[in-house]
Amino acid sequence: MMSEEGDYGELDENESKILIALVKLGNQYNQRELWRMAGINSKTGIPALSKLERRGFIERDKVGGDKRSQYVIRLTEAGIKKAKTLMEGMKSGMGTDIELLMGIPCFFCPYIKECGRGGHTSPETCELLGRWIYNISTTFNN
Ligand code: SF4
Repeated sequence: MMSEEGDYGELDENESKILIALVKLGNQYNQRELWRMAGINSKTGIPALSKLERRGFIERDKVGGDKRSQYVIRLTEAGIKKAKTLMEGMKSGMGTDIELLMGIPCFFCPYIKECGRGGHTSPETCELLGRWIYNISTTFNN
């Protein structure tokens, strides 16, 4: 029997949503906010993250010290590859445009109301939006 670490077989829906959300978000994101971005809840998301970690698709980095620590979830090379494979599969299916639209970080951004040209936050200078555009373009041009 293949070990869990070496098993790169099919993922369930929640695991797939997490990988796709992460690649759209620039390959890493705060765990606390990830559920909303992936469209799942933490109850199902936490076990899915553990499975993805055991299979080598993600890694977790603890940030912020002992009292206010949080985890940043980061895709590994294998995770990026798997996410892109999943997105390729989506490309040929229904709902691709909706999936793409739902991945735009502005939909979930706390600065959406104040973001605008010449402002403190702006689409022209936003790193998160820039990373999302870069990842989408590399995903669909490779
Ligand atoms: S451009 Fe950046 S800062 Fe502005 S709403 Fe989008 S994600 Fe938020």
